[in-house]
Amino acid sequence: MKLVVSGIKPTGRIQLGNYFGMIKEIIAMQDKYKVFLMIADLHAQTVPYKPAELQFLTYELASSLLALGIDPQKTVIFKQSDIASHLYLYWILGCLSYFGELQLMHEFKEQAERYKKQGVGVGILMYPVLQAADVLLYNADLVPVGKDQVQHLELARQLARRFNKRFGQVFKIPEIYLREETAKIMSLDNPYKKMSKSSPEGCLEIFASEKEIKEKIKRAVTDSSNEIKFDPETKPGISNLMIIYKCLTGKVLPEIEQEFFGLGYADFKEKIIEAFFDYFKKAREKKRKISKGMVNKILKEGARQANRIAEKNLKTILKIVGLR
Ligand code: AMP
Repeated sequence: MKLVVSGIKPTGRIQLGNYFGMIKEIIAMQDKYKVFLMIADLHAQTVPYKPAELQFLTYELASSLLALGIDPQKTVIFKQSDIASHLYLYWILGCLSYFGELQLMHEFKEQAERYKKQGVGVGILMYPVLQAADVLLYNADLVPVGKDQVQHLELARQLARRFNKRFGQVFKIPEIYLREETAKIMSLDNPYKKMSKSSPEGCLEIFASEKEIKEKIKRAVTDSSNEIKFDPETKPGISNLMIIYKCLTGKVLPEIEQEFFGLGYADFKEKIIEAFFDYFKKAREKKRKISKGMVNKILKEGARQANRIAEKNLKTILKIVGLR
């Protein structure tokens, strides 16, 4: 059976891009593959954060994933910081990485620009190495991610090849699993930027209040022509909203153009709001019933299962690199 590994950072509440870029794929994979889904709390430390908030968001993220359909009977869901072996492999892979190649990562460049004044943390530079360790430690076959993570996964594949060449065949070269059409949901306030938990203004959080969701959709950036037509070059805002509507309804783009022919942006936005609440109705109800006790128990069991494989694989790695 193929092994799937993916992760998500508890840096904010779950947003639409996370769901359509990655979580939906994981839910579909649970029945076919062995899935390991990690709450990447160590990755969340790469930017300034408050400890109590990290604790809260970790629990919040886990309960959101369960409400959306991650089934702990099928998927091993765990906290990254519960598995110390990730950090061990991170060091080993870090010693095989080049400063120059890490500096080339888009995410690094973006974050380096953002934290220029305060100083750019080494964690931001090393982030993709830890991500490589997360995936390679379990010998993943498949890694479902959104488009923003492809470059990091390419690096993980490169590090696996480099390690294998230097020390002997240990790692599988993981395949990147990307659904092109939903690979990148853009921000509602800036359609040139990806939707991200770290820019809350343009971010549609799935479990936000009804009022907030309605307001954000109504305020979403469009353009002056008032025509619902898919053209990412000249109409990036409307095209992004069309992709969102497509994801929520399963309709194809020409059908959406036809549905809103002669209608204005306000009508379109009302329909998106309706589709959003239809799509996430069950998950929003389920979320209210998930207790902290349930989440803690599931994460503890997930850590136990993940640790079993991680420790076994790390033993082989330590031996081959000469540490045991
Ligand atoms: P993160 O929130 O950065 O931890 O990302 C968790 C997963 O969601 C990764 O696989 C990302 O590629 C995916 N993702 C995050 N934002 C988006 C987005 N705007 N569109 C599509 N996928 C996304």
